[in-house]
Amino acid sequence: DAVVHWFKCDLRTADNKALHLASEKAKSKGVPLICLHVISPQDYKAHRTSAVRVDFVLRTLEVLMEDLAQLDIPLYVETVEKRKKVPERIFELCKQWGASHLYTNIEYEVDELRREASMTRKGLQEGIAMEAVPDTCVVAPGELLNGTGNQYSVYSPWFRAWIAYLHTHPHQLHLFDPPTQNPTDARQKYKELFDRRMPEAPENKKLTDDERKRFRSMWPPGEHEARQRLSKFLQERVDDYKDTRNFPAANSTAIVSVHFASGTLSARSAIAAARDANSVKKLDGGNKGIMCWISEVAWRDFYKHVLAHWPYVCMNKPFKPEYTNIEWEYNKELFTRWTEGQTGYPFIDAAMRQLNHTGYMHNRARMAVASFLAKDLLIDWRMGERYFMEHLIDGDFASNNGGWGFSASTGVDPQPYFRIFNPILQSEKFDESGEYIRKWVPELKHVQGKAIHDPHGRGAKGVQGYPKMCVDHKESRNRALARYKEGLGRD
Ligand code: FAD
Repeated sequence: DAVVHWFKCDLRTADNKALHLASEKAKSKGVPLICLHVISPQDYKAHRTSAVRVDFVLRTLEVLMEDLAQLDIPLYVETVEKRKKVPERIFELCKQWGASHLYTNIEYEVDELRREASMTRKGLQEGIAMEAVPDTCVVAPGELLNGTGNQYSVYSPWFRAWIAYLHTHPHQLHLFDPPTQNPTDARQKYKELFDRRMPEAPENKKLTDDERKRFRSMWPPGEHEARQRLSKFLQERVDDYKDTRNFPAANSTAIVSVHFASGTLSARSAIAAARDANSVKKLDGGNKGIMCWISEVAWRDFYKHVLAHWPYVCMNKPFKPEYTNIEWEYNKELFTRWTEGQTGYPFIDAAMRQLNHTGYMHNRARMAVASFLAKDLLIDWRMGERYFMEHLIDGDFASNNGGWGFSASTGVDPQPYFRIFNPILQSEKFDESGEYIRKWVPELKHVQGKAIHDPHGRGAKGVQGYPKMCVDHKESRNRALARYKEGLGRD
C-alpha cells in the first residue's frame, strides 16, 4: 500500500498543501509516500512552454529529488509522450505501487481542470481516491464574490475584498509543514524508484550548449534558492520597491516570478514572509514598499481567479467579446522585427532583447512591448502572447494572458482602448538616463543625452547599424484608434 503525490507546477516540499495532505494520509495509514512527476512533450508543445522553462523544471526536479530522498521519499519522473495518456499512466503506476490515494494541487487552466475532474471520477471506478486541492493562489478562486454574487472583473475592488478576506481568514496564511520521513523499509521496497535517473529534456525543448550555459548561470533552480532570493529582496530592496519598481534598470523587483510559475515558492508563504517583514506585521499599513509588493503578488491571484471564472480566455478568446472583430495585421516582417528587437524604438528593442537573452523581461517593459505590438503594429496580440510563452522562463498562462489583455485593451482592465502608450515617452519616463537601453542595445552605447530614446529623430544624427523606426507612432496611433473603433462597431 502507498499514497502518491503528483507534482505539477508545485515543485517544492515547503508549504505544499497536497503534498502535506498526502504525507499526513500516508502517516495515518502507516504506508510510504511516493512522489511522481510526468513530463509530456506534447503538453509542452500544446502550452508552448519555453525550453528555458523546461530546463529550469528539470534542474529543479533534481533538487527536489535529493531533498525527498533525505526523507526516504522517492520521486519518480517519467516521460509520457501524449498528454491524453498521462492520466491513464498515473493510474497504472498507482496500481503498480498499490496506492489507494492520489493527491495533487489544482491547476485552473481549462484543460487541466477538466483532466483533474475526469481523473477524480475515474479514480472512483479504479478504487483510487484522488484529491485535487486548491493551493496555488493565496485565496482560492470562487472565494471572493462582489455584491451581486459574481466574480469581480476589476482589480481594485477585488483587491480590497482579497485583503478583507485574509483579515477574516487568518489561517489562510498558515503554512503547511513539509512531508515527514517515510517508514524505514521504503528505501528497500522502492529501490528501483530511488535508482532511476532523471529523463533528459524532450527533443522539442532542448537548449543549445550556449543557451544552457547562459541560462543556468542566471537561473539557479529549486526552492532553497527561491526562499533565499525572496528573503534577500525583503531585507535589502523592498523599501524602495514602490518608488522604483517601474524602472527596468533599477533592479528593484524581487525576480521571483520564475519560482511562482514552477511552484518553487508558494504565493502564500511569500505573502506571509512580506507580512512578517512589515514593521506592523500586517498586510496593509506600515511599510509602503511591502504593501505595494503584496498588491503586486495579488495580481497573480487576480488573473487566476479571472481564468477560473471565465474559462473561455483559455480558448484564444478576448475577455471582452466585443473586441473579437478587430481586424488585426499579420505582417510577418514587422512581427520579426518586434521579436528580434529591431523596431528602431530603443526601449522596445532593449526589452525584447532582454527577453531573448535572459528568458525574463521587466514588467514595465512587458507592458510597453505588448502595447507596441497590439497598438502600434496592430498585430494580433495572441501572436505576442504566444511568443512570450515560448521565451519566458516565468511563463504563466493566467498572468501572461491577463497582461496581454491589459495591453491590447481586450482584457479585464476597464481602461478604454484609446489608452495607447507612446513608446518614446515610456522610454523617457521609465529609462530616463538610457541605462536599460544601453545595456541591451549595444549599438546605442555611445549615444548621449535624450537622443538615446529616439536616435534617428528630433535632430539626432542617427546611428549606423541601428534601424530606423519601423512605424511612425503618430500615424500608427491614429490607425489603431480607427481600427479599434471600427471593430467595436461590427456585430
Ligand atoms: P515583482 O515586481 O517583484 O512582483 C512580485 C510578484 O507579483 C511577481 O513575481 C508576480 O508573481 C506578481 N506580479 C507582479 N506584477 C504582476 C502582474 N502585472 N500580473 C500578474 N502578476 C504580477 N508574470 C508571470 O509570472 N508570468 C507571465 O507569463 C507574465 N506575462 C506577462 C505578460 C505581460 C504582457 C505583462 C504586462 C505582464 C506579465 N507578467 C507575467 C507579470 C509581470 O510582468 C511579472 O510577474 C513580473 O515582471 C515578474 O518580476 P518580479 O518577480 O521581479 O516581480
